[in-house]
Amino acid sequence: MDEIIKLGGILDFTTVDWPGKIASIVFLYGCNFKCPYCFNSDLVIGNNFKEIEISKIVALLKSNKDFVDSVVICGGEPTIHGEKLVKLCSLLKESGFKIKLDTNGSNPELVEKLIKNKLIDFVALDIKSDFQEKNYERASGGFTDMQKIKNTLNILINSNIEYECRIPVIPNLNQHLIKNIAKEITQAKTVVLEQYISSDKTIDKNFKIINSPSREELINLAKFFKNEIVKIRTKEMGEEILTS
Ligand code: SF4
Repeated sequence: MDEIIKLGGILDFTTVDWPGKIASIVFLYGCNFKCPYCFNSDLVIGNNFKEIEISKIVALLKSNKDFVDSVVICGGEPTIHGEKLVKLCSLLKESGFKIKLDTNGSNPELVEKLIKNKLIDFVALDIKSDFQEKNYERASGGFTDMQKIKNTLNILINSNIEYECRIPVIPNLNQHLIKNIAKEITQAKTVVLEQYISSDKTIDKNFKIINSPSREELINLAKFFKNEIVKIRTKEMGEEILTS
């Protein structure tokens, strides 16, 4: 029997979510975090989804295959869909797609399974705070199992898969913790500091009116990171690699 999954939407075409690739984006519905700054609140606390057969999603993506050979799976948090995510990735792989997974890191077992079965090609792991429980709880809207995030990071570090640790830089939430984060993820190969852009759709409405950190602030914060590849992403300049 064909399996049903909760789909938030599909974007046919992007060149920015997976640098160097032309990709479609699949937004899966639902998340186990409630990050106050989250601008995908429709996919987290709203009811903005439709239930659809996994094979239909693959068929829709295949109809663009002449132009797009890569798929970004994000959310929400894709790993809450468990074996349904495995099935989606399997069918996409059978159809020849490259797959990037965006994850909050709360399900290391599933990430490991996807890597071991060669069902994903790239992982973007969000690091929302330093690994102090109270800080992560605030940044994620309640998640405190730090070992899960650390395990996901270690799985990526010890794999051959391409990955990046994405750190959203958010004033009044984690900007003052960036130096601590840098000390905790020294083993990660690639780190990206992302400029927070306010939105009307944040889960906590107080984050609608927060000013973005400037590009210069991000460049200065990036100096705390001694990782092999350090990048920033800003609205004005897109992605910039700061290491040579
Ligand atoms: S930003 Fe937080 S709440 Fe929003 S989708 Fe990502 S993990 Fe979930």
